[in-house]
Amino acid sequence: MSRFLTPATVQEALEALAQPGAKVLAGGTDLMIFLRQARMNGAELPELLVDVTRLPELKRLELDGPGCYLGAGLTFRFLDESPEARRHIPVLAQAASMVGSMQVRQTGTIGGNVANGSPAADGMSALVALDAVAEIASLEGVRHCPLSELITAPNQTTLTPGELILGYAITPPPEPEGQVFLKVGRRHEVAVSRLNLAACLDRDLADPRVVLGSCFPSPRRLADVEALIKNGKPGPALWQAAGEQAAGHFTDVCGWRSSATYKVPAITRITARALKRAWAQLEDRS
Ligand SMILES: Cc1cc2nc3c(=O)[nH]c(=O)nc-3n(C[C@H](O)[C@H](O)[C@H](O)COP(=O)(O)OP(=O)(O)OC[C@H]3O[C@@H](n4cnc5c(N)ncnc54)[C@H](O)[C@@H]3O)c2cc1C
Repeated sequence: MSRFLTPATVQEALEALAQPGAKVLAGGTDLMIFLRQARMNGAELPELLVDVTRLPELKRLELDGPGCYLGAGLTFRFLDESPEARRHIPVLAQAASMVGSMQVRQTGTIGGNVANGSPAADGMSALVALDAVAEIASLEGVRHCPLSELITAPNQTTLTPGELILGYAITPPPEPEGQVFLKVGRRHEVAVSRLNLAACLDRDLADPRVVLGSCFPSPRRLADVEALIKNGKPGPALWQAAGEQAAGHFTDVCGWRSSATYKVPAITRITARALKRAWAQLEDRS
């Protein structure tokens, strides 16, 4: 049986997490499943669950000033419904709206989404498109880690016992911008992504961002696709070429495995569609 603690301050949380066998508990939507499976298999359970949901520092949302910041404890429901998030970081608000069910969105957080390290994490793809850098605290101090370097393999991260993600510093592309998140799943609702794609475009195509998730060990920006867009002329031909390049990147990295039969055309289409919609958002604003 695990002990349970609800610290009131980050310092208390870090002291608790420094104890052997302590584990962070946020929304519990991944962790409770993991604990139940561990219990059924007779595996060791964490000695101490440290509930971080009452820490105000993890609920920070700063999107107006020069330094944008999102607390790790923000839930998907909050991000889906926040007018500020919808205005400034629609790619994450859209991703949040597509996570699981209302119950999962109600408690699931962007801290847990990243720390869990799933290749199919929807919030993670959007955060990578926003160039997020995680702020990670422990009793040793604070370190900063770009999300692209935090996940080392499926469900494995550089987080060490005792570390807590406080939040993410983000750098949205220059305004005005179009941001779109799309996902492909087996069902319309409560579906784990078989593919997800986050796209951000600015009007000059100076800093395009294209992130493909659920294809690699963790969601990643497609530098070759972004370079193609930067040097291209906006329009259907460019979006289609970008889609084909994204699919080519997938087969270069992963080879032609059985899933490629549907993933290659799906990546091509989802990329072209996301870019078309992102550009349409920009045109609507002019
Ligand atoms: C039915 C169902 C549907 C789902 N659908 C989706 C979906 O569509 N898309 C999607 O992306 N995910 C989905 N998920 C997965 C899950 O909801 C998300 O990954 C969620 O973001 C996890 O956050 P949490 O707050 O619940 O984390 P928890 O379950 O509390 O924790 C998950 C892991 O992260 C660690 N952790 C949590 N917070 C921190 C922190 N601040 N610092 C360090 N470590 C931390 C925990 O110790 C644990 O190891 C689904 C889950 C369920 C059960």
